[in-house]
Amino acid sequence: MAKADYYETLGVARTADDKDLKSAFRKLAMKFHPDKNPDDSEAERKFKEINEAYETLKDPQKRAAYDRYGHAAFEHGGMGNGAGAGFGGGGFSDIFEDIFGEMMGGGRGRQRSSGGRERGADLRYNMEISLEESFTGKTAQIRVPTSITCDVCSGSGAKPGTQPKACSTCQGSGRVRAAQGFFSIERTCPTCHGRGTIIPDPCTKCHGQGRVTEERSLSVNIPAGIEDGTRIRLQGEGEAGARGGPAGDLYIFLSVKPHEFFQRDGADLYCAVPISMTTAALGGTFDVATLDGTKSRVSVPEGTQAGKQFRLKSKGMPVLRSSQTGDLYIQIQIETPQKLTKRQRELLQEFEQISSKENNPESTGFFARMKDFFDTLSD
Ligand SMILES: [Zn+2]
Ligand SMILES: [Zn+2]
Repeated sequence: MAKADYYETLGVARTADDKDLKSAFRKLAMKFHPDKNPDDSEAERKFKEINEAYETLKDPQKRAAYDRYGHAAFEHGGMGNGAGAGFGGGGFSDIFEDIFGEMMGGGRGRQRSSGGRERGADLRYNMEISLEESFTGKTAQIRVPTSITCDVCSGSGAKPGTQPKACSTCQGSGRVRAAQGFFSIERTCPTCHGRGTIIPDPCTKCHGQGRVTEERSLSVNIPAGIEDGTRIRLQGEGEAGARGGPAGDLYIFLSVKPHEFFQRDGADLYCAVPISMTTAALGGTFDVATLDGTKSRVSVPEGTQAGKQFRLKSKGMPVLRSSQTGDLYIQIQIETPQKLTKRQRELLQEFEQISSKENNPESTGFFARMKDFFDTLSD
């Protein structure tokens, strides 16, 4: 069954502030409190949901994570919140598990199986490439600081030749019950942290963790045409699981650096080219370098206006995993001459005097229509 949205559970808007959250929580918690609804499993379930929703939303970090990833943010091996360049490992789950474990009375414990095997956290790696690299594609070597299964104890955490023992506090169940007020609360066992086992003789290399931190070198294939914001998932390349559990995944978050000359829109590229006023008026040619390492010659006919686009077919970006290529659009900008000499000024003034309406139909027409418009207003 899909989990209910936390905001809906509390009956608040997504923009609710701390005060709204608190008052909504208090009202609902009073209503569904187990003390008031003895032997009502539906109310108990509701109470747990309200608690969980509030615990998440009252914490700005968790709330941000929830807004971004939804419930997936808190599932085991959830995304690490990678900050800046390089790594943000760890998954939210480890931090939040304890809180939820306590609150929920075991409603959402760790994903455990015998021996406390846990899936490793997913890792996030931020990678920035240039537009040229996106054009050609590349194989990138990355160094991944991650925890891997300890080779001395093969991930069990116990010194070779010894065995983990059942926890005596919880008799191996991983949970303990404690009376609190009128009802009893089940909580994560404080001795074994819910694993059900303790390691009396820990492995000396990993100190009983079953995994050690190491830097691995990975080669990542970046396909040609990859776009900014793409996420590449490398299954099983995340953190090793604890005590022999499965490894998490590694996510490469790819960003493409802005380019000096080209802006990208899907597979098409755009290049703004400033040309002189005289080139625009008389016509001319110029060369543009394209990402395939060649040059393309662009002919500008006489009377070219600003904003005019010329298409260079198949000079754009490759389309991911296909043989197609986008186009390159040259967008004409016209540069008005500055710092005129006396002679240039005279020539332009003379040019102005002998110009006719036909030379500038747009501006002539525009000002004529504007005058008409003004006349209708002042009539
Ligand atoms: Zn070990
Ligand atoms: Zn225990």
